[in-house]
Amino acid sequence: MSKFIFITGGVVSGLGKGILTASIGALVKARGLSATMLKFDPYLNVDAGTMSPYQHGEVFVLNDGAETDLDLGHYERFIDEDLTRLSNVTSGKIYSSVITRERRGDYLGATVQMIPHVTDEIKQTIRLLAHESTAEVLVIEIGGTVGDIEGLPFLEAIRQFRRDSQPQEVLYIHTTLVPFLDPSGEQKTKPTQHSVRELRSIGIQPDVIVCRSNLPISGKMRNKVALFCDVQPNEVISLPDLESIYRVPIFLEREGLAPILDRFIGKHRKTDLSKWERLDRILESVRPTVQIGLVGKYVGMRDTYISVTEAIKHAGFEVGVEPQVKWIDAEKLEKAGTEKTLNTLDGIIVPGGFDNRGVEGKILAIRYAREQQMPFLGLCLGMQCAVIEFARNVCGLQRANSTEFDAKTPDPVIYLLPNQRGRKEKGGTMRLGAFPCRLKIGSKAHQAYGLDVVQERHRHRFELNNRYRMMFEEAGLIVSGNYEEKNLAEVMEITDHPWFVGSQFHPELTSRPGKANPLFRQFVDACSRRAEAKWKS
Ligand code: GLN
Repeated sequence: MSKFIFITGGVVSGLGKGILTASIGALVKARGLSATMLKFDPYLNVDAGTMSPYQHGEVFVLNDGAETDLDLGHYERFIDEDLTRLSNVTSGKIYSSVITRERRGDYLGATVQMIPHVTDEIKQTIRLLAHESTAEVLVIEIGGTVGDIEGLPFLEAIRQFRRDSQPQEVLYIHTTLVPFLDPSGEQKTKPTQHSVRELRSIGIQPDVIVCRSNLPISGKMRNKVALFCDVQPNEVISLPDLESIYRVPIFLEREGLAPILDRFIGKHRKTDLSKWERLDRILESVRPTVQIGLVGKYVGMRDTYISVTEAIKHAGFEVGVEPQVKWIDAEKLEKAGTEKTLNTLDGIIVPGGFDNRGVEGKILAIRYAREQQMPFLGLCLGMQCAVIEFARNVCGLQRANSTEFDAKTPDPVIYLLPNQRGRKEKGGTMRLGAFPCRLKIGSKAHQAYGLDVVQERHRHRFELNNRYRMMFEEAGLIVSGNYEEKNLAEVMEITDHPWFVGSQFHPELTSRPGKANPLFRQFVDACSRRAEAKWKS
């Protein structure tokens, strides 16, 4: 029998509900129980794959190829488990399956309605995940904010869920904002009261209220929230802004979530927080800094590259440095010039992306990294740009390009495989999910992983054109990782360079605190070696 923790949010979005949910998953696992996670997203897209990262942040890809909300990335990083497509369910997915069943005649003449058909479908997805994962505890986040029209079916379904279950099987946690008003110097609980009232009007009485604020909330405020929202003062948890998201699990544990979870979960092994304590100690310590330039398109929109920046942090924990990310707008780089913008850096990352905006700027940055012997890591589009740069400036194919950016290039060094050509549908049609990659013995990639075959996750349409493979290898850009079944280049690196590696997959997606992805770890290590010279001088 599984237990279920539901997490809702109120007042505003962007409270860090995903981190809270992930941290609760981590605390469940720290108690020796198996846990899995589920995010309900109230939008009508069937999955996050067709959503612009401008609007919605990064699309996180799972092993099975599911294109999910970025919170799934936090979940995997915090609970250190690989999730499946059952862990992210949108309204679009729910409605589409209800309508498919209606067309099939499954409802036997019934009028198909929000309650019970849509709510049943939602509850079904929770039971299905419980069954498939066999997890002892499911931590389930309802996306959006209480009061949104889109979220109502999910809230109604989780209300019914408690009714269908034993009382000790379900826990509701509601998180809200407690703003600090400067002129009065006071923290305000009114928005929390309103949000809980809204939740109660739907029939959900929260068991725990997590108050998000800049600074910890006072005992007086805690009592006030407890009184107005009908919980005990010790069921009001204060979660102020912390300097690292990796401090949230321990903070919640000490702030009073421990006895609540212990009581809810019942008998369990001794709580083991050593992994989080170790991270805490690293975060406390003073580490020398390294400067890493992230040359991208959506600069300033940090959510777009969230797995990349997290993977850089994980690598920093292991290498013993504090990486500082400098955001470089690829389009501006074309005008500002590389030397001025890049010379203070210790390494450059060109992350993934689509369409040709900023591509020439990325190519300039890569040329700089190659020529200045500066560590470079190219992720998917970043690898493709490195291939274009090498073709143009080393192999002399001046108009080499990817057919994504120039359909008529005489040298299509990156191109679409025949099975991708002519596809009309956009949703779920890329090369998605984990594929095996054989690493070349002695290469930097092989040294990093210490394995002959690795599995990494993909999300792209274009590939290296094998017609040019030999030419590149002879000129010093080798294929050091290969998907053997289809003979597709997965990792490429320059042999005559301190550290220049690009991967067609997205290594950032499998990086976790305490288990940094090897390519990121070795890249940051190479950056720190370059920076060392500066520390000494
Ligand atoms: N646009 C490129 C492709 O589709 C790269 C995609 C990516 O970086 N995720 O192949």
